Amino acid sequence: MDSQRTLRRSVSCAGIGLHSGNKVTLTLRPAPANSGIRFRRTDLGGFEIGATVSNVAGIQYATGLARDEGSVETVEHLLAALVSLGIDNAVVELNHPEVPIMDGSAAPFVYLIQEAGVRSLPVPRRFLRIMRPIELVRGDKRIALYPSDQFKVTYSISYDHPLLRHQARATAITESVFVEQIAPARTFTFLKEVELLRQHGFALGGSLENAVVVGEAGVLNTPLRFDDEFVRHKILDVIGDMALLGSPVVGHLVAHRGGHALHTAFAAKILEERDAWELVEEPSTAALPLPAVAPFGATLSAGR
Ligand SMILES: [Zn+2]
Repeated sequence: MDSQRTLRRSVSCAGIGLHSGNKVTLTLRPAPANSGIRFRRTDLGGFEIGATVSNVAGIQYATGLARDEGSVETVEHLLAALVSLGIDNAVVELNHPEVPIMDGSAAPFVYLIQEAGVRSLPVPRRFLRIMRPIELVRGDKRIALYPSDQFKVTYSISYDHPLLRHQARATAITESVFVEQIAPARTFTFLKEVELLRQHGFALGGSLENAVVVGEAGVLNTPLRFDDEFVRHKILDVIGDMALLGSPVVGHLVAHRGGHALHTAFAAKILEERDAWELVEEPSTAALPLPAVAPFGATLSAGR
């Protein structure tokens, strides 16, 4: 049985909001068992917004949450880091409506969580285990979850751009895989879209310091951290969006050409299809160790 976890102590960092360009202070604080991840706006008198599917609001260029008059934007990279490092419960304090973009990846949040340390809580963690396939298709975009004995992601992307036609990656998501192979992958955007975004008041804090920018002739800020950094970032995004389910997923997620709108609509569909999953304290019966003593004298030999 796994125990729920929170942070050992509070930690802070500062950065800028990608879309607003404003300076933001973020503080991660420990929280009790079964309280989940909650955002707290110190500039709104401590107003709290839970990281849940029911609070999903903005989904155009990043995932936002809102409740009543309060909102938080660009939550996905931080949520991906928290869930992948096994943090079930935490308070995320912000003095602004936007999580800082940092370097456009989840690596700075991984570092922050590691600085805080992890504390076990004496309450079992519950996993959301997929029992039958769930699928959502919108035009040429597709996302699905299949039963599996662990959390895996297979993602493929394709763009009408000479430098970025098709990338695909499949990986089981463990803490070390996330930290080493997924968290450092940065947000990316196309140069021709940057001007459009700015005209609409987005990406005011965007720069080559916090996003990979793809121009017609090449990537503006080389070198890339990975040859397939783009699809790795998509995996990072979908992990963050699935964190809104509130329990770690045990299943194989397969997505093609997704984005935050598709990811969060899929998260809502998962919760609606209540017969497709169960909440369990053991992620997988297949992962249980063999009994130390064979029952009734049976021999433990061929094929376990
Ligand atoms: Zn992202």
